[in-house]
Amino acid sequence: MNDILLGSHISLAAPDYYAAAVKEAHSWGENVFMFYTGAPQNTKRIPLDKMRIEEGRALIRDYGMDEKNIVVHAPYIINLANTKNEATREIARSFLVEELRRTAAFGLRYLVLHPGSAVDASREEAIAMVAEGLNEVLKEDGTDVIVCLETMAGKGNELGRTFEELKAIRDLVERKERIGVCLDTCHIHDAGYDIKDIDGVLSEFDSVLGLDLLKVIHLNDSKNERGAHKDRHANIGYGAIGFDALLAYVNHPRLAGIPKILETPYIDHEFPPYEEEIAQLRNGKFVGLSEIK
Ligand SMILES: [Zn+2]
Repeated sequence: MNDILLGSHISLAAPDYYAAAVKEAHSWGENVFMFYTGAPQNTKRIPLDKMRIEEGRALIRDYGMDEKNIVVHAPYIINLANTKNEATREIARSFLVEELRRTAAFGLRYLVLHPGSAVDASREEAIAMVAEGLNEVLKEDGTDVIVCLETMAGKGNELGRTFEELKAIRDLVERKERIGVCLDTCHIHDAGYDIKDIDGVLSEFDSVLGLDLLKVIHLNDSKNERGAHKDRHANIGYGAIGFDALLAYVNHPRLAGIPKILETPYIDHEFPPYEEEIAQLRNGKFVGLSEIK
């Protein structure tokens, strides 16, 4: 295995949870990975003492992985921008506090968060609402975990469809040292960026946000054309972005040391593609997936 930090989304499942997740990632040739602490679409979470965390951490050391590159993803139902409903917003805040504490309990430092979605409010108001929520959360959680705001495709009223919107949120956050960014290749392509012009994308990111804020990359192909605002991930080399453009993100010197995480779809909802996709990216050669005829 080389030094490129490449991995995928991994599910935490009973009975061995974190220990099993680390083993699975390693078995697929991954030296980084990302997981949800429970189902991505709800806030039900099993107690930490059942998650086999210490066993998982020991395996991480055994396999020579580095905890600083392993990433947690917050559930996507958290919406700090719900101006309509104070109760919903309060649930989002308290859940995010708990999620940051869980991330710290795993010994990890990055939590990826979808910035939110404007509900009956202007984008400006919604952005201010997200920042206000983050200010409260980051005062309360007592950790030093970094919230990585993700670049979004701009589906519906999603916030974060431009680098400028992420900057606008961060500008209003008091504890700026606790805000980073997760760049999703599918999302920025769907949002309208010219993903194939990697130097253009990186210099724009650098001039708006600063490249030092880029902590995590979600490496996905896209089922849709540039600017479609759809957010449908495709397998590597099977979408509108293509293998070579994605490979450039894997190997670009300015992105060295940043974990690259695949969230590509299971084939026929059944076969995880990650082992083959990661091998091809490491080898720099596209051969396709054996389950896709
Ligand atoms: Zn995400």
